[in-house]
Amino acid sequence: MARRKGLNRREFLWLTSIATSGVVVPSVLTGCAVDPVTGQRRLLLLSEEQEIEIDQSQSPHQFSADYGIYPDDELGRYVRQIGQQVASRSHRSHMPYNFNVVNANYVNAYTFPAGSMGITRGIMLDMQSEAELAALLGHEAGHVNARHAAERATRGMLAQMAVGATAAVAGDGTLGSVVSGVGAISATALLARYSRENEREADRLGMDYMVASGANPQGMVDLMGMLRAMNDRQPGSMEVMFSSHPMSDERYANVQRQLNSDYRSETSRATQRERYMDNTARLRRRSDTIRALRDAEMAIGRQEYSNANAKLAEARRSTPDDYPAWVITAKAQMMQDQPTQAIESLRRARQIQPEEGQAMYLLGINLLSRDDAGGALTEFQRYEQVLPGNPNTRFLVGYSHEQQDNKPQAATAYQDYLRQVQQGQQAEYAFGRLREWGYL
Ligand SMILES: [Zn+2]
Repeated sequence: MARRKGLNRREFLWLTSIATSGVVVPSVLTGCAVDPVTGQRRLLLLSEEQEIEIDQSQSPHQFSADYGIYPDDELGRYVRQIGQQVASRSHRSHMPYNFNVVNANYVNAYTFPAGSMGITRGIMLDMQSEAELAALLGHEAGHVNARHAAERATRGMLAQMAVGATAAVAGDGTLGSVVSGVGAISATALLARYSRENEREADRLGMDYMVASGANPQGMVDLMGMLRAMNDRQPGSMEVMFSSHPMSDERYANVQRQLNSDYRSETSRATQRERYMDNTARLRRRSDTIRALRDAEMAIGRQEYSNANAKLAEARRSTPDDYPAWVITAKAQMMQDQPTQAIESLRRARQIQPEEGQAMYLLGINLLSRDDAGGALTEFQRYEQVLPGNPNTRFLVGYSHEQQDNKPQAATAYQDYLRQVQQGQQAEYAFGRLREWGYL
């Protein structure tokens, strides 16, 4: 057959879309579990071992989608210390909690079911005290302790069993999903919207835990106030930013009521504003960069590229060695059909944080679109070493081999991919190739 050279626009679009493969549904159902918070038995189809397994296989991909760990060891140590203090006072203090400041610019925090947490540098910038940080980590620990992810997974599994469906979910086939996050795999499913009831419970538990750890409960009220004020300022953008934490006046009122009824006397404690400011001083020197990148990401989302380009230039000017600034620049260049420039930006990004996976992945895609399948293959293989378990990389490895006429290697990678994903355009493509080559 004729060697396929390069990619047309349509192929490039679907190749670079990041198909979500859905949560891998555990085949062993564990039945009722005792809720660690209430002591009541309830139906949960995810065991603690499975929570840990999902947490540890999925969280590295979400951290990479958030541009990896923010490179400030002292800040990382500080957040871990506050997090451990809070988590040690929770109902599930034995869980393998870990607290990570990630490079993302948007204002958010999230947790995986066993306590792997991402706290964005964006929200670290906007918080004002250690008490607020303890409140934020307490809220996330609340989700872990009330086992909200397992509850949601159980609902999803029950729904799937009801319709007899499999777990595969097709990608939407648009380049927009490159911007929304590389390698997020099923993390988006895990981090999907919590119910209001879940949020209320996490707020309440969060305040209990943070106060037990010695923090001032006013931190929770201040945190809610900060998020609410932000919501009033930029209502449109907040829908995106807080999709995993819907904000409302009600939550603010609830935590204020809890403080008044249960923790009045603990409000005399220090909020540790100065200690927080000392520990975030280096981060706050990047505030112009982070805010410019937030604006740039919004502009990219609205496809306002000249505005985005101006904000990106501003971000790179104020911090020339900022990894996310170069990766986001590359994404904007990809969306403007500038793969050569994107390759340059990604190489800069990689010089700054050589072990972070997202730059490798995007570099591979851009090299593919410039007909450099050998170079692309090298990038995808490096990516698989730092972030194993993303089926899309298996597909791209197969495709890179195919472009170099390495059929047996391409077939092996396509077979690996199809073992994990059975639906969508990439699966159809891989299946078609295997059939054409006589493997099926
Ligand atoms: Zn929440």
